[in-house]
Amino acid sequence: MIKISEHIYIYPAEHYTDRPNIGLIVGEKKTLLFDAGNSEKHVRKIKNEIYEKALPLPDFVLLSHWHWDHSFGAKFWNVPIISGKKTNEQLKNVAEWKWDDASMEERIISGEDIVFCTEMIKREYPDRSHIEVALADIVFEGNMSLDLGGTACELIHAKGPHSEDSVICYVPSEKFLFLGDANCKDLYGKPWDFDIEHEEDFLSNVAKIPYDEKLAGDFIDLLSTLDFEYCISGHSEIMTKEELFNSLTF
Ligand SMILES: [Zn+2]
Repeated sequence: MIKISEHIYIYPAEHYTDRPNIGLIVGEKKTLLFDAGNSEKHVRKIKNEIYEKALPLPDFVLLSHWHWDHSFGAKFWNVPIISGKKTNEQLKNVAEWKWDDASMEERIISGEDIVFCTEMIKREYPDRSHIEVALADIVFEGNMSLDLGGTACELIHAKGPHSEDSVICYVPSEKFLFLGDANCKDLYGKPWDFDIEHEEDFLSNVAKIPYDEKLAGDFIDLLSTLDFEYCISGHSEIMTKEELFNSLTF
């Protein structure tokens, strides 16, 4: 857990099994976790860190979008899970998925899932009978405000170029924005190659995927209305607002 402002801590991403950055937003009364983590093991590591730093455990967990690496830890927090409506609708589908090799292969062919996530799930879960997908307890459409006591969070259904259900979390008092993967490329909608034998090519292959310019443009318009100085995306380092905008312009 790295303290990055008065009320915000980050548990950093771990790329080997695609674990994203996890945010802890600590108010005077309540604490919000931004994203659930990708497994029970991941959740346990985060909880240990919270204990060690003598920080409060979360009272709520927000899911930024439905992708497994952000949502599969939800079952293991034992607190109310918050998500956008579209995220929860897709999680209802994912909760029905089977995790044997043949079912996972079929979903790659149907386009429901992708090679990259399939490989990463296999790596995170040596025993895939442990996968349990939790649905949200609190579901919102559009925007939702959360008052943690002196620290407000605005949960905004932002869409963006990565996944149409993406929700971002703006913390005005800290001038900070949690993006989830909302600013990233669309790994599900656009064709690209991933070969686990050549993981060194991952970043360059993703870089070749084109942004949907309309979605990226609308996303920038939305972000322009928010007064933030720094932000963090799901799998990379903290950026300034300017660095984020430069990464989204062509
Ligand atoms: Zn994602």
